[in-house]
Amino acid sequence: MKKADIIIVGGGVMGSSTAYSLRKNGFEGSIVVFEKDPTYEYSSTSRSAGGFRQLYSTAINIQLSRFSLAVYKNFAEDMAIGEEKAEIDFKQRGYLFLATERMLSSFQKQLKLQNSLGVPSEILTNADLLGIIPELETGDLAGGLFCKEDGYLDPYSVMQAYRKNAQFLDVDYVNAEVSTLLTESGRIKGVQLTNGTIYNSPIVINCAGAWGATLSEEIGLPLPIVPLKRQMYVFDSTTRLEKMLPLTIDPTGVYFRHEMDRVVAGFSDDVKPGIDFKWKRSSFDHLWPILAHRIPNFESLKLESGWAGMYDHNTVDQNAIIGEHPLMKGYYVALGFSGHGMQQAPGVGIGLAELICKGKYETLDLTPLRVERFAENDLVMEDAIV
Ligand SMILES: Cc1cc2nc3c(=O)[nH]c(=O)nc-3n(C[C@H](O)[C@H](O)[C@H](O)COP(=O)(O)OP(=O)(O)OC[C@H]3O[C@@H](n4cnc5c(N)ncnc54)[C@H](O)[C@@H]3O)c2cc1C
Repeated sequence: MKKADIIIVGGGVMGSSTAYSLRKNGFEGSIVVFEKDPTYEYSSTSRSAGGFRQLYSTAINIQLSRFSLAVYKNFAEDMAIGEEKAEIDFKQRGYLFLATERMLSSFQKQLKLQNSLGVPSEILTNADLLGIIPELETGDLAGGLFCKEDGYLDPYSVMQAYRKNAQFLDVDYVNAEVSTLLTESGRIKGVQLTNGTIYNSPIVINCAGAWGATLSEEIGLPLPIVPLKRQMYVFDSTTRLEKMLPLTIDPTGVYFRHEMDRVVAGFSDDVKPGIDFKWKRSSFDHLWPILAHRIPNFESLKLESGWAGMYDHNTVDQNAIIGEHPLMKGYYVALGFSGHGMQQAPGVGIGLAELICKGKYETLDLTPLRVERFAENDLVMEDAIV
């Protein structure tokens, strides 16, 4: 039997950001991160679209993303190890929600809250939109909600930088799958691996992404989270655009951005929950007319590749569930991020580290995202879900 002072299940961006932040908060005990897929081929982080935005309708999401954005701004230097910078392809090309007439009043409302929290978002007219995307079809639009500080980055590099820095600070990454969480009389006791090995620990943090809710359910603590397949598509627009795209959300929900000289697009289709990484090329048939309508250059696009990834989708309010479980001492979760976890990872890691090391949130109050909110019916109802 082995032991650790803190065990983290899942070494994706959440687990690694948390491990690193625990050390930065002065935690000196042993930390073991179990990661079943060290290539990260199937982790959501590697398959993310990498968008970051402060364009939310709830204060907690705005604050969390604003805080994380400040971290990402200096990430390359702050997370350098020796001479090697942690490059993350950080592109502040803006984030843009295109609006029909009907959508504008809701965006006006969001804008007020965003501006009051320091976010320099703005409502754009159709003429402004053409200044950003000259090829845009604006006939059916009434403007958009835009934030120039936002944009996109490379999620895999962020995760690797957190992992390397955590390892540099003596966090132990073990290539193994946790089969069960172990509990005793309302306390977490440790984990058992699929090879039978038991690790004891008074603190276990569930950062297992799309697989996390199953582990929790198996110890009688279900969470309203399901794995939900999301598909991405990479195409060559063949006729070049004049400017690089912001991360743009069409009123239909189809989104797109540049990736080097290619364009990456995605859409949250209506699918049955379940782990499924099969990428269906034919699903692009739904996106193409929408893309071609919005940017006529895309009429002659060439679909090159794509992938499917998993949201750990919160079925109740589509937001993160963070903190100690009220029914299990020492059991912490950071799950349910749905489509906006990547951009929140720095703030989540620091929040959890403070909660564990100091018993309370100091930098950012993540209490609204607590596990208890479902029982208390104090949900975080976010309008800006992608
Ligand atoms: C297609 C797509 C597009 C997205 N776009 C965006 C976006 O634009 N912006 C944004 O902010 N977010 C986006 N997201 C969401 C974002 O990627 C996730 O919220 C975030 O990556 C979650 O990180 P994580 O560490 O919780 O999960 P993961 O990255 O999945 O990490 C969990 C890890 O746990 C490991 N694991 C699971 N079970 C076990 C076990 N039993 N034992 C050991 N290891 C285990 C897994 O192998 C995995 O590596 C997108 C997601 C997808 C799928």
